[in-house]
Amino acid sequence: MKKSLYLYNTGSVKKEHFQPVNDPVNIYCCGPTVYNYAHIGNLRTYIFEDVLKRVLIACGYKVKHVVNITDVGHLVSDADTGEDKMEKGAAREGKTVWDIAEYYTGVFMQNINELNILDPDKWPKATEHISQMIDMIKTLEHKGYTYKTSDGIYFDTTKFENYCDFAKLDPEQLRAGERVDMGEKRAVTDFALWKFSPPDKKRQMEWQSPWGKGFPGWHIECSAMALAYLNQPVDIHCGGSDHIRVHHSNEIAQSEAATGKPFAKYWLHGEFLVMGKGKMAKSGGNFITLDALKKQDFSALDYRMFCYTAHYRTPLTFSWEGLRASAQSLSNLKKQIGALNENGAVNRKKVDEALSSFYDAICDDLNMPRAVAAIYEILRKEGLSDSEKRAAIEKADTVLGLNLTVGLEKAQYQVQSQGKLIKIVSESTLSDSIKDVLVKNAVQRKIAREEKNFALADGIRDLFSAAGVIVKDMPDGSTLCTVKNEKEAQVLLENKPEH
Ligand SMILES: [Zn+2]
Repeated sequence: MKKSLYLYNTGSVKKEHFQPVNDPVNIYCCGPTVYNYAHIGNLRTYIFEDVLKRVLIACGYKVKHVVNITDVGHLVSDADTGEDKMEKGAAREGKTVWDIAEYYTGVFMQNINELNILDPDKWPKATEHISQMIDMIKTLEHKGYTYKTSDGIYFDTTKFENYCDFAKLDPEQLRAGERVDMGEKRAVTDFALWKFSPPDKKRQMEWQSPWGKGFPGWHIECSAMALAYLNQPVDIHCGGSDHIRVHHSNEIAQSEAATGKPFAKYWLHGEFLVMGKGKMAKSGGNFITLDALKKQDFSALDYRMFCYTAHYRTPLTFSWEGLRASAQSLSNLKKQIGALNENGAVNRKKVDEALSSFYDAICDDLNMPRAVAAIYEILRKEGLSDSEKRAAIEKADTVLGLNLTVGLEKAQYQVQSQGKLIKIVSESTLSDSIKDVLVKNAVQRKIAREEKNFALADGIRDLFSAAGVIVKDMPDGSTLCTVKNEKEAQVLLENKPEH
């Protein structure tokens, strides 16, 4: 059975009970423009979207997730003027646009990976979907939504009756804004679907179209790629809150005009990361990358933890002290979890009960500050065994994505009573001398238990405990030894059994 989930919908301006149209749930997220490094403010949005996806999965939904890569057509200005960001990036670095796209796409993917963000089902690139964009523009032209100027094909927003609804735009105010130079556009909200290559300059990325050589507008890319892989209406469309006013209003107008169907049922938007006085932005030059955090000895997951200190719809102020506090919290949390004894029966019902306040938090519009607080409650909870606490936290971590129970084990060995190491469970291994003594002790303990020499068995167990090694008797009769820390395990060497 699926859990009841409430999400704040920008479209209706309220929290709504989530009821998807599609199975799997279709999610489209506006992806990066790959002309530069992503800053940690951009990455905050992808972390929020990852939490959304993980919450849906934890609530029992299957998810189909698409994130586009914008590698052409995103102009410096929202008013369809200025340079293509990609061409600008290429000029800045003296590389080809294609090289720039490949390089920054690679860096972005690496950031995503380090932040423990689950890969979408599809990463479509704009440059690989030009024909779908041209088809959509043709449909819009056929339906009478477009007009031509000397520099491109534009969407006529006055023909789309509800254009102002989504972003709650005031038409009066918009008309007042029309005095600023808008070139040959008929209304200030009209936007380019296809831009012609400039007559005086050769672009590196350009394509033939029924209207002339050129390249697509940024907005049409998302509509065409969403439609290429997902059903319309899409269940959830996400992006940063700076996309609401122009980019998402435009996506809605062209998608709904083209298909005659609602574009997306739920719209979720992540708020800014604030730096000093303003939002973090590439244009301001005050941007911090994930690499910059790592140079200061923070991990990507420290930053993920920092993002959980505010709700995704609240602006979050970045500070190095704030990040340090989050890194410390994460480290303390992992220490407390690492100290949990793994032995003991697990009562699934008690584990589920322990998780109820965690689920209440995540199902209430992804309230991560409350969700993190719920983890501390679980650790403090009385009447719950260590194994149950660990099981509850493992489950919660499928949503948190903080690797709370990963990396606690330096190495794991499975040992049989006949004295054989039957399996190295983990990827990392210990030095041979520690490994030998570990196996010998595990075997000796096993024999002692079989011979009902409990004093000896308990003595070895204490030794393991002093060495930070957790032993677990497996159902197949073998013993699983988990070593948390190689240094601590040295204690074993100093107390070698007599063999
Ligand atoms: Zn988009």
